[in-house]
Amino acid sequence: MTQIIDSTELDFCDVLFKPKRTTLNSRSEANVIREYKFKYYPHTLNSCGIIAANMATTGTFEINNVLQKYQAITCLHKHYDFNNEENRKYLIQNYQQNQNAYTFVSTGLKDDKEKLFAILSDKEFPIDKLCIDIANGYIPKLIEFVREVRTNFPHLLIMVGNVVTGDMTQDLILNGADIVKVGIGPGSVCTTRKLTGVGRPQLSAILECSDAAHGVGGLVCADGGCTCAGDVAKAFGAGADFVMLGGMFAGTDEAAGELIEKTVQTNLLCDGVLVTKKEKYKQFYGMSSQLAQEKHFGGMACYRASEGKVVEVPYKGSAESVIQEILGGIRSTMSYIGARRLKDIAKCTTFYRVNRQLNEVFGKS
Ligand code: 5GP
Repeated sequence: MTQIIDSTELDFCDVLFKPKRTTLNSRSEANVIREYKFKYYPHTLNSCGIIAANMATTGTFEINNVLQKYQAITCLHKHYDFNNEENRKYLIQNYQQNQNAYTFVSTGLKDDKEKLFAILSDKEFPIDKLCIDIANGYIPKLIEFVREVRTNFPHLLIMVGNVVTGDMTQDLILNGADIVKVGIGPGSVCTTRKLTGVGRPQLSAILECSDAAHGVGGLVCADGGCTCAGDVAKAFGAGADFVMLGGMFAGTDEAAGELIEKTVQTNLLCDGVLVTKKEKYKQFYGMSSQLAQEKHFGGMACYRASEGKVVEVPYKGSAESVIQEILGGIRSTMSYIGARRLKDIAKCTTFYRVNRQLNEVFGKS
Protein backbone atom coordinates (compact mmCIF):
# COMPACT_ATOMS: atom_id res chain seq x y z
CA MET A 1 0.00 0.00 0.00
CA THR A 2 1.21 3.50 -0.73
CA GLN A 3 2.68 5.15 2.34
CA ILE A 4 3.15 8.80 3.13
CA ILE A 5 5.95 10.05 5.35
CA ASP A 6 4.19 12.83 7.16
CA SER A 7 7.05 14.60 8.97
CA THR A 8 8.14 17.95 7.60
CA GLU A 9 10.98 17.75 5.13
CA LEU A 10 13.22 20.81 5.06
CA ASP A 11 15.35 22.72 2.59
CA PHE A 12 18.04 25.33 3.27
CA CYS A 13 15.50 28.13 2.89
CA ASP A 14 13.30 26.65 5.65
CA VAL A 15 15.77 27.26 8.49
CA LEU A 16 18.04 29.88 10.04
CA PHE A 17 20.79 29.41 12.63
CA LYS A 18 19.98 30.41 16.20
CA PRO A 19 22.75 32.76 17.41
CA LYS A 20 24.38 31.57 20.63
CA ARG A 21 26.63 32.90 23.34
CA THR A 22 30.15 32.46 22.02
CA THR A 23 33.75 32.55 23.18
CA LEU A 24 34.89 33.95 19.83
CA ASN A 25 35.46 37.70 19.75
CA SER A 26 36.02 37.86 16.02
CA ARG A 27 35.41 35.72 12.96
CA SER A 28 39.18 35.63 12.49
CA GLU A 29 39.29 33.23 15.45
CA ALA A 30 37.19 30.70 13.55
CA ASN A 31 39.28 27.94 11.96
CA VAL A 32 37.73 26.77 8.68
CA ILE A 33 40.39 24.14 8.01
CA ARG A 34 39.54 20.70 9.35
CA GLU A 35 41.80 17.69 9.60
CA TYR A 36 39.79 14.92 7.95
CA LYS A 37 40.30 11.27 8.83
CA PHE A 38 38.69 8.56 6.74
CA LYS A 39 37.34 5.05 7.21
CA TYR A 40 39.56 3.45 4.54
CA TYR A 41 41.90 6.07 3.04
CA PRO A 42 44.99 5.89 5.23
CA HIS A 43 45.99 9.58 5.09
CA THR A 44 44.60 12.72 6.66
CA LEU A 45 43.53 15.72 4.59
CA ASN A 46 43.48 19.31 5.82
CA SER A 47 40.69 21.08 3.96
CA CYS A 48 37.91 23.64 4.24
CA GLY A 49 35.52 20.97 2.96
CA ILE A 50 34.31 22.88 -0.11
CA ILE A 51 34.29 20.85 -3.35
CA ALA A 52 33.76 22.14 -6.90
CA ALA A 53 31.30 19.81 -8.66
CA ASN A 54 32.54 17.37 -11.29
CA MET A 55 30.48 19.09 -13.97
CA ALA A 56 32.05 19.88 -17.34
CA THR A 57 31.84 23.58 -16.54
CA THR A 58 33.14 23.58 -12.95
CA GLY A 59 35.32 20.47 -12.55
CA THR A 60 38.20 22.10 -14.41
CA PHE A 61 41.99 22.36 -13.96
CA GLU A 62 41.57 26.16 -13.83
CA ILE A 63 39.11 26.00 -10.91
CA ASN A 64 41.39 23.46 -9.22
CA ASN A 65 44.34 25.88 -9.46
CA VAL A 66 42.36 28.55 -7.60
CA LEU A 67 40.60 26.39 -5.03
CA GLN A 68 43.62 24.43 -3.85
CA LYS A 69 45.16 27.68 -2.59
CA TYR A 70 42.27 27.74 -0.12
CA GLN A 71 42.56 24.03 0.66
CA ALA A 72 39.29 23.52 -1.20
CA ILE A 73 38.81 20.48 -3.43
CA THR A 74 37.98 20.10 -7.11
CA CYS A 75 36.29 17.02 -8.45
CA LEU A 76 37.49 16.97 -12.06
CA HIS A 77 34.83 16.15 -14.62
CA LYS A 78 35.07 12.72 -16.17
CA HIS A 79 35.64 13.92 -19.73
CA TYR A 80 39.32 14.68 -19.18
CA ASP A 81 41.31 12.03 -21.01
CA PHE A 82 44.31 11.10 -18.87
CA ASN A 83 46.01 9.28 -21.71
CA ASN A 84 46.38 12.74 -23.21
CA GLU A 85 49.94 13.92 -22.47
CA GLU A 86 49.00 17.45 -21.35
CA ASN A 87 46.23 16.35 -19.01
CA ARG A 88 48.49 13.69 -17.56
CA LYS A 89 51.31 16.18 -17.05
CA TYR A 90 48.98 18.59 -15.26
CA LEU A 91 47.87 15.99 -12.74
CA ILE A 92 51.34 14.57 -12.15
CA GLN A 93 52.78 18.06 -11.55
CA ASN A 94 49.82 18.98 -9.39
CA TYR A 95 50.39 15.97 -7.17
CA GLN A 96 54.15 16.59 -7.02
CA GLN A 97 53.67 20.21 -5.97
CA ASN A 98 50.99 19.50 -3.37
CA GLN A 99 51.86 16.90 -0.82
CA ASN A 100 48.20 15.97 -0.57
CA ALA A 101 46.50 17.23 -3.73
CA TYR A 102 42.96 18.62 -3.56
CA THR A 103 41.91 16.81 -6.70
CA PHE A 104 39.51 13.95 -7.36
CA VAL A 105 39.09 12.24 -10.72
CA SER A 106 35.57 11.13 -11.60
CA THR A 107 33.99 8.11 -13.15
CA GLY A 108 30.50 6.87 -13.85
CA LEU A 109 29.45 3.24 -14.10
CA LYS A 110 29.29 3.14 -17.86
CA ASP A 111 32.82 4.44 -18.34
CA ASP A 112 35.58 2.17 -19.44
CA LYS A 113 36.47 0.18 -16.32
CA GLU A 114 39.66 -1.25 -17.78
CA LYS A 115 40.92 2.22 -18.64
CA LEU A 116 40.09 3.48 -15.14
CA PHE A 117 41.77 0.54 -13.43
CA ALA A 118 44.85 0.96 -15.66
CA ILE A 119 45.14 4.62 -14.65
CA LEU A 120 44.65 3.84 -10.96
CA SER A 121 47.29 1.09 -11.12
CA ASP A 122 49.81 3.25 -13.01
CA LYS A 123 52.67 3.93 -10.59
CA GLU A 124 53.66 7.09 -12.46
CA PHE A 125 50.18 8.47 -12.20
CA PRO A 126 49.71 9.50 -8.60
CA ILE A 127 45.94 10.02 -8.36
CA ASP A 128 44.59 8.70 -5.07
CA LYS A 129 41.13 10.27 -4.91
CA LEU A 130 38.19 8.95 -6.92
CA CYS A 131 34.58 10.08 -7.22
CA ILE A 132 32.15 7.43 -8.45
CA ASP A 133 29.18 9.44 -9.53
CA ILE A 134 25.80 8.33 -10.79
CA ALA A 135 22.46 10.11 -10.55
CA ASN A 136 20.68 7.17 -8.93
CA GLY A 137 22.89 5.76 -6.19
CA TYR A 138 20.34 3.05 -5.38
CA ILE A 139 21.12 0.69 -8.24
CA PRO A 140 22.79 -2.59 -7.17
CA LYS A 141 25.57 -2.27 -9.73
CA LEU A 142 26.91 0.75 -7.85
CA ILE A 143 27.50 -1.19 -4.64
CA GLU A 144 29.20 -3.98 -6.61
CA PHE A 145 31.44 -1.46 -8.34
CA VAL A 146 32.37 0.31 -5.09
CA ARG A 147 33.27 -3.04 -3.55
CA GLU A 148 35.38 -3.98 -6.55
CA VAL A 149 37.26 -0.67 -6.58
CA ARG A 150 37.86 -0.85 -2.83
CA THR A 151 39.15 -4.42 -3.06
CA ASN A 152 41.53 -3.54 -5.87
CA PHE A 153 42.63 -0.16 -4.49
CA PRO A 154 42.47 -0.33 -0.69
CA HIS A 155 44.38 2.95 -0.26
CA LEU A 156 42.12 5.10 -2.47
CA LEU A 157 39.96 7.92 -1.11
CA ILE A 158 36.56 6.99 -2.55
CA MET A 159 33.55 9.28 -2.72
CA VAL A 160 30.31 7.77 -4.04
CA GLY A 161 26.83 9.05 -4.79
CA ASN A 162 24.11 10.10 -4.93
CA VAL A 163 21.60 9.03 -2.30
CA VAL A 164 19.26 10.76 0.19
CA THR A 165 18.53 8.13 2.84
CA GLY A 166 20.47 6.66 5.74
CA ASP A 167 20.13 2.99 4.75
CA MET A 168 21.85 3.42 1.40
CA THR A 169 24.45 5.76 2.89
CA GLN A 170 25.48 3.02 5.29
CA ASP A 171 25.44 0.33 2.59
CA LEU A 172 27.84 2.35 0.44
CA ILE A 173 30.18 3.02 3.35
CA LEU A 174 30.20 -0.59 4.52
CA ASN A 175 31.04 -1.64 0.97
CA GLY A 176 34.04 0.65 0.62
CA ALA A 177 33.07 4.33 0.35
CA ASP A 178 34.88 6.88 2.54
CA ILE A 179 32.47 9.67 1.62
CA VAL A 180 28.86 9.40 0.41
CA LYS A 181 27.44 12.13 -1.76
CA VAL A 182 23.96 13.27 -0.70
CA GLY A 183 21.40 14.94 -2.97
CA ILE A 184 18.76 13.88 -5.46
CA GLY A 185 17.15 16.74 -7.27
CA PRO A 186 18.40 19.87 -5.48
CA GLY A 187 20.93 20.97 -8.14
CA SER A 188 20.53 24.39 -9.74
CA VAL A 189 20.37 22.93 -13.28
CA CYS A 190 18.70 19.66 -12.33
CA THR A 191 15.20 18.76 -13.56
CA THR A 192 14.97 15.29 -11.99
CA ARG A 193 12.21 16.32 -9.60
CA LYS A 194 10.16 17.66 -12.49
CA LEU A 195 10.77 14.76 -14.82
CA THR A 196 10.53 11.89 -12.35
CA GLY A 197 8.82 13.25 -9.24
CA VAL A 198 11.71 11.79 -7.19
CA GLY A 199 13.77 13.70 -4.64
CA ARG A 200 14.10 14.89 -1.08
CA PRO A 201 14.53 18.37 0.42
CA GLN A 202 18.26 18.72 0.87
CA LEU A 203 18.56 19.79 4.52
CA SER A 204 16.54 16.78 5.72
CA ALA A 205 18.55 14.48 3.45
CA ILE A 206 21.81 15.78 4.94
CA LEU A 207 20.52 15.45 8.51
CA GLU A 208 19.57 11.79 8.04
CA CYS A 209 22.52 10.70 5.89
CA SER A 210 25.21 12.38 8.00
CA ASP A 211 23.84 10.75 11.14
CA ALA A 212 23.82 7.37 9.40
CA ALA A 213 27.32 7.84 7.95
CA HIS A 214 28.93 8.99 11.18
CA GLY A 215 27.46 5.98 12.96
CA VAL A 216 29.51 3.63 10.77
CA GLY A 217 32.67 5.73 10.52
CA GLY A 218 31.99 7.38 7.16
CA LEU A 219 31.55 10.95 5.98
CA VAL A 220 29.07 12.73 3.73
CA CYS A 221 29.30 15.39 1.07
CA ALA A 222 26.17 17.52 0.62
CA ASP A 223 25.78 17.87 -3.14
CA GLY A 224 23.57 20.50 -4.74
CA GLY A 225 21.16 23.25 -3.85
CA CYS A 226 23.52 25.79 -2.25
CA THR A 227 22.94 29.26 -3.65
CA CYS A 228 24.88 31.40 -1.17
CA ALA A 229 27.44 31.17 1.65
CA GLY A 230 24.62 30.86 4.22
CA ASP A 231 23.37 27.68 2.51
CA VAL A 232 26.88 26.20 2.63
CA ALA A 233 27.05 26.95 6.37
CA LYS A 234 23.60 25.36 6.85
CA ALA A 235 24.80 22.21 5.06
CA PHE A 236 27.70 21.97 7.54
CA GLY A 237 25.22 22.78 10.33
CA ALA A 238 23.05 19.83 9.28
CA GLY A 239 26.06 17.52 9.58
CA ALA A 240 27.73 17.56 6.15
CA ASP A 241 31.48 16.98 6.25
CA PHE A 242 31.98 18.33 2.72
CA VAL A 243 29.81 20.56 0.54
CA MET A 244 29.83 20.28 -3.26
CA LEU A 245 29.00 23.33 -5.37
CA GLY A 246 28.22 23.69 -9.07
CA GLY A 247 26.16 26.80 -9.69
CA MET A 248 28.09 28.91 -7.20
CA PHE A 249 31.33 28.41 -9.19
CA ALA A 250 29.59 28.71 -12.58
CA GLY A 251 30.03 32.03 -14.39
CA THR A 252 33.58 32.52 -13.10
CA ASP A 253 36.67 33.12 -15.24
CA GLU A 254 37.93 29.64 -14.43
CA ALA A 255 34.66 27.85 -15.29
CA ALA A 256 34.65 26.33 -18.77
CA GLY A 257 32.66 27.96 -21.54
CA GLU A 258 32.59 31.04 -23.68
CA LEU A 259 31.89 34.44 -22.23
CA ILE A 260 28.65 35.67 -23.80
CA GLU A 261 28.13 39.43 -24.20
CA LYS A 262 24.61 40.75 -24.60
CA THR A 263 23.33 44.24 -25.20
CA VAL A 264 20.24 44.82 -23.07
CA GLN A 265 17.84 47.75 -22.87
CA THR A 266 17.60 49.66 -19.59
CA ASN A 267 14.54 51.73 -18.66
CA LEU A 268 16.61 54.95 -18.70
CA LEU A 269 15.87 57.50 -21.39
CA CYS A 270 18.54 59.68 -23.01
CA ASP A 271 17.41 62.15 -25.71
CA GLY A 272 14.17 60.18 -26.01
CA VAL A 273 16.02 56.91 -26.66
CA LEU A 274 16.20 53.98 -24.22
CA VAL A 275 19.78 53.54 -23.02
CA THR A 276 21.37 50.13 -23.59
CA LYS A 277 24.08 48.40 -21.56
CA LYS A 278 26.31 45.38 -22.00
CA GLU A 279 25.93 42.35 -19.75
CA LYS A 280 28.20 39.31 -19.60
CA TYR A 281 27.15 35.71 -19.03
CA LYS A 282 28.64 32.23 -19.11
CA GLN A 283 26.80 29.10 -20.13
CA PHE A 284 26.21 26.47 -17.43
CA TYR A 285 24.55 23.13 -18.08
CA GLY A 286 23.45 20.04 -16.20
CA MET A 287 25.43 16.90 -16.90
CA SER A 288 22.23 15.07 -17.87
CA SER A 289 21.00 17.89 -20.08
CA GLN A 290 20.49 17.36 -23.77
CA LEU A 291 23.43 19.71 -24.41
CA ALA A 292 25.79 17.66 -22.19
CA GLN A 293 24.69 14.44 -23.86
CA GLU A 294 25.37 15.93 -27.27
CA LYS A 295 28.71 17.49 -26.32
CA HIS A 296 30.16 14.57 -24.43
CA PHE A 297 28.35 11.46 -25.60
CA GLY A 298 27.49 12.32 -29.20
CA GLY A 299 23.72 12.50 -28.53
CA MET A 300 21.04 11.38 -26.15
CA ALA A 301 20.29 7.64 -25.96
CA CYS A 302 16.68 7.00 -27.01
CA TYR A 303 15.70 5.41 -23.65
CA ARG A 304 16.77 8.54 -21.75
CA ALA A 305 15.17 11.92 -21.23
CA SER A 306 17.02 15.06 -20.29
CA GLU A 307 17.24 15.55 -16.50
CA GLY A 308 19.16 18.79 -16.67
CA LYS A 309 18.87 22.23 -18.14
CA VAL A 310 21.06 24.86 -19.77
CA VAL A 311 21.26 28.35 -18.28
CA GLU A 312 23.26 31.52 -18.75
CA VAL A 313 24.84 32.59 -15.46
CA PRO A 314 25.82 36.25 -14.95
CA TYR A 315 29.62 36.62 -15.19
CA LYS A 316 31.16 36.69 -11.68
CA GLY A 317 34.88 37.37 -12.24
CA SER A 318 37.42 35.11 -10.56
CA ALA A 319 36.50 31.95 -8.63
CA GLU A 320 38.84 33.39 -6.01
CA SER A 321 36.26 36.00 -4.99
CA VAL A 322 33.57 33.28 -4.75
CA ILE A 323 35.59 31.00 -2.45
CA GLN A 324 36.68 33.99 -0.35
CA GLU A 325 33.06 35.06 0.11
CA ILE A 326 32.01 31.52 1.07
CA LEU A 327 34.81 31.14 3.62
CA GLY A 328 34.12 34.62 5.00
CA GLY A 329 30.44 33.72 5.41
CA ILE A 330 31.23 30.44 7.15
CA ARG A 331 33.66 32.14 9.55
CA SER A 332 30.96 34.62 10.41
CA THR A 333 28.38 31.86 10.99
CA MET A 334 30.88 30.18 13.29
CA SER A 335 31.33 33.34 15.32
CA TYR A 336 27.52 33.70 15.66
CA ILE A 337 27.00 30.15 16.93
CA GLY A 338 30.19 29.71 18.94
CA ALA A 339 31.97 27.17 16.73
CA ARG A 340 35.75 27.50 16.84
CA ARG A 341 36.45 24.68 14.37
CA LEU A 342 34.68 23.66 11.16
CA LYS A 343 33.89 20.30 12.72
CA ASP A 344 32.11 22.04 15.62
CA ILE A 345 29.51 23.75 13.40
CA ALA A 346 27.04 20.84 13.56
CA LYS A 347 27.53 20.45 17.34
CA CYS A 348 26.82 24.16 17.85
CA THR A 349 23.83 24.26 15.49
CA THR A 350 20.25 24.88 16.53
CA PHE A 351 18.01 25.80 13.60
CA TYR A 352 14.86 27.88 13.74
CA ARG A 353 12.25 26.68 11.30
CA VAL A 354 11.18 29.79 9.41
CA ASN A 355 8.61 30.74 6.85
CA ARG A 356 10.69 33.54 5.37
CA GLN A 357 14.44 33.35 5.11
CA LEU A 358 15.53 36.68 3.67
CA ASN A 359 14.76 40.29 4.35
CA GLU A 360 14.12 41.65 0.88
CA VAL A 361 12.54 44.99 1.79
CA PHE A 362 14.68 46.73 -0.81
CA GLY A 363 14.65 43.92 -3.35
CA LYS A 364 16.93 40.97 -3.87
CA SER A 365 20.67 41.34 -3.35
P1 5GP B 1 24.35 23.09 -7.67
O1 5GP B 1 25.51 23.40 -6.76
O2 5GP B 1 24.53 23.69 -9.03
O3 5GP B 1 23.03 23.43 -7.06
O4 5GP B 1 24.32 21.51 -7.84
C1 5GP B 1 25.39 20.79 -8.39
C2 5GP B 1 25.03 19.34 -8.48
O5 5GP B 1 23.89 19.15 -9.35
C3 5GP B 1 26.08 18.45 -9.10
O6 5GP B 1 27.15 18.17 -8.25
C4 5GP B 1 25.26 17.22 -9.47
O7 5GP B 1 25.07 16.34 -8.37
C5 5GP B 1 23.91 17.81 -9.83
N1 5GP B 1 23.73 17.85 -11.30
C6 5GP B 1 24.55 18.34 -12.23
N2 5GP B 1 24.04 18.23 -13.47
C7 5GP B 1 22.85 17.62 -13.32
C8 5GP B 1 21.83 17.20 -14.24
O8 5GP B 1 21.89 17.40 -15.45
N3 5GP B 1 20.76 16.56 -13.69
C9 5GP B 1 20.65 16.33 -12.34
N4 5GP B 1 19.59 15.66 -11.90
N5 5GP B 1 21.57 16.75 -11.46
C10 5GP B 1 22.66 17.37 -11.94
